Amino acid sequence: MAASAPCLFSVVGDWRKWKHSPIFPLVGEMSGRTEGGAKELGPNKVPVGAAQMRPSLLDPLFVPITSLAGVGPKVGPLIEKVVPADLGDRAARAGDLLFVLPHSVIDRRNRPGIAGSAEGAIVTLEVRIDRHQPPPRGNRSVPYRVYAHDDTGEIALTFFHAHAAYLEKAMPEGERVVVSGRMEWFNGRPTMVHPDHIALASEAENLPLVEPVYPLTAGLSGKVLRRAIGQALARLPVLPEWQEDEFLRRRTFPAFGDALARIHNPADPIDVSVDGAAWRRLAYDEFLAGQVSLALVRARVRRLSGRPLVGDGRFVEKLRAALPYLLTNSQEMALAEINADLGDPERMLRLLQGDVGSGKTVVALLAMARAVEAGGQAALMAPTEILARQHLATIAPLAEQAGLRIAILTGREKGRERTETLAGLAKGGIDIVVGTHALFQQTVTFHDLVLAVIDEQHRFGVHQRLAITAKGDAPDMLVMTATPIPRTLVLTAFGDMDVSKLTEKPAGRQPIRTVTLPLERLDELVGRMRDAVADGQKIYWICPLVEESEEIKLMSAEDRFASLKPLFGDRIGLVHGRMKGTEKDEAMRAFKAGETRILIATTVIEVGVDVPDATIMVIEHAERFGLAQLHQLRGRVGRGEKPSSCVLLYKNPLGETATRRLSVMRETEDGFRIAEEDLKLRGEGELLGTRQSGTPGFQVARIEAHADLLEAARDDARLILSRDPELQSERGAALRMLLYLFGRDEAVRLLRAG
Ligand code: ADP
Ligand code: MG
Repeated sequence: MAASAPCLFSVVGDWRKWKHSPIFPLVGEMSGRTEGGAKELGPNKVPVGAAQMRPSLLDPLFVPITSLAGVGPKVGPLIEKVVPADLGDRAARAGDLLFVLPHSVIDRRNRPGIAGSAEGAIVTLEVRIDRHQPPPRGNRSVPYRVYAHDDTGEIALTFFHAHAAYLEKAMPEGERVVVSGRMEWFNGRPTMVHPDHIALASEAENLPLVEPVYPLTAGLSGKVLRRAIGQALARLPVLPEWQEDEFLRRRTFPAFGDALARIHNPADPIDVSVDGAAWRRLAYDEFLAGQVSLALVRARVRRLSGRPLVGDGRFVEKLRAALPYLLTNSQEMALAEINADLGDPERMLRLLQGDVGSGKTVVALLAMARAVEAGGQAALMAPTEILARQHLATIAPLAEQAGLRIAILTGREKGRERTETLAGLAKGGIDIVVGTHALFQQTVTFHDLVLAVIDEQHRFGVHQRLAITAKGDAPDMLVMTATPIPRTLVLTAFGDMDVSKLTEKPAGRQPIRTVTLPLERLDELVGRMRDAVADGQKIYWICPLVEESEEIKLMSAEDRFASLKPLFGDRIGLVHGRMKGTEKDEAMRAFKAGETRILIATTVIEVGVDVPDATIMVIEHAERFGLAQLHQLRGRVGRGEKPSSCVLLYKNPLGETATRRLSVMRETEDGFRIAEEDLKLRGEGELLGTRQSGTPGFQVARIEAHADLLEAARDDARLILSRDPELQSERGAALRMLLYLFGRDEAVRLLRAG
């Protein structure tokens, strides 16, 4: 089968990310069009087709920001830092500035009079200028003062390094002037240092009453940014409406342009609130753009495949017989859903969500066996090498008994072994391959990849997910995640992906007792560990990663290993990320085999590591871990018949969030509850592993505030495309503009010219 067959785009939340990826040229093929020359372009070029198809009405927004007045080579890069769009390697454009939204306002309507102005308050005062007092000649360190008064008292307006001529002109003696700025009281005397605004009272109506405050970066002044945004707004053409009038009326949403104008020129703090109608309108637009583009891609991808995979049960039955346990009801249900998808000519795009320890791997194995029965190959991709090897270790003995040919491919396989594996994959001699991102390398080709299983997907970038599916002819795809992703996030990141959930844990699992313990009481813990080791138990001890630059000296895994080694001798092992692959394997093997009883580790063992008879998990500096991570780590124990415990060792003093996290861990083992708390405490960015941005892949929308709009946008997108699949109607044409405005324009390339 061709190695460059169409790949899966519908799991992509963020078009802007992958359009710069090396596999981007596949989009051109997918749409069955050659226009745009996407194929000839290198990885980092934006295809010309995009510009050719863009409605010319939008051209004014697609100029580089450096063509705006006041934005030169120095300011440009600073502005790019505050632009919420993920620019990749393109330059920021005027249109990107529209979505640099203010986070608050300065309310200049506060006019309490001089005497009534509190220290630190932003106030606007109407005063009469009494006299100017320039600094003594030659002494620039003394400020220039302008004295003024109103009915309530006197004030000194203070200027350092002032231009006397400017101040004299702006505030002539005897004139009435409006000044606005921060009030400061010095020894009972009111002053305002460098007012933000100064205007003659006769011209004061020009002062902004409510002024937006934008996110800034060092070196970029609010004034410069406001001016640039103002120009971008002025370039915004009158656009056709892409939302239905009735919908807008019901929600009291303003038009797109009006919403932007209202946020950038607020009359009231509500105008810049994420809960205000203006912001919500834009958030809805952004969600709709995302959902329409995902739906377009999904429709294309589904149409392209169309190969039912039906098995005769010859491998699956043997595997089931070889399992030392019965599947849980959840596992059976998930498997039934997966099998139905595999047997269907439509391509499978399914998320298998299950808390740590819920037994996803065996579901994947049975699905892969079925794909092999149907005559194809399957790949299981893990985020780390340890995990890939562990999967192999669990799967290989079962697979062997069933007669499946299985291999591993990671960065470590070299030489003959690698050559043989590659040949086996290309010729079809290997049925199932387990691997890491090494599976996406160019040298890897499959004879007939029909099912790609991706484990712990939140660790993989978008590109990687796409790359593996490019290795087959639109292979079915199963994404497994242990991080319970809230429904809203599934929607934003994957569009309308089908979801199977493993809601129960395998029978016989004991609850995990979780305790918190301050580091000062380490000795007690060590005493208990001695008893536990004597009793034949196994203990994980996790240390946080230590960066060299960190001020607080933390115990690294190596230090901790050194300090415990004299007490436990040969019973203690160490594994961390900087060790060689073979050393890591050996440490894991020794622990699994019981030769070592204590394994000091960094978070390399966070996901997926499975040593069922480990019963104690110690997490040192637990206060430094996020909730999801703590939950993942804790999930390494409680996998066997014996009761398990988790000790969260923390260092005092504990901050508020850390306290909250640790108590959530004590209170519950429910992954979904923990994910919700996590969302509250950290924001959703980190859940999907995209820490940098607010809501991943979004410029305006904020999941925490706009989740209700997301579902509506999803339904709306479906309805729109069911009526107008090629966006050919008048509304469709307007929607194409929407896609361009929010950088989802790659989806437009999938459409027939409209
Ligand atoms: P995760 O969902 O975290 O990836 P694993 O697939 O690693 O979970 O499974 C965790 C452990 O549970 C493994 O040791 C596996 O063999 C075991 N297991 C899986 N399914 C069952 C079951 N139905 N009954 C008993 N044990 C099971
Ligand atoms: Mg797993």
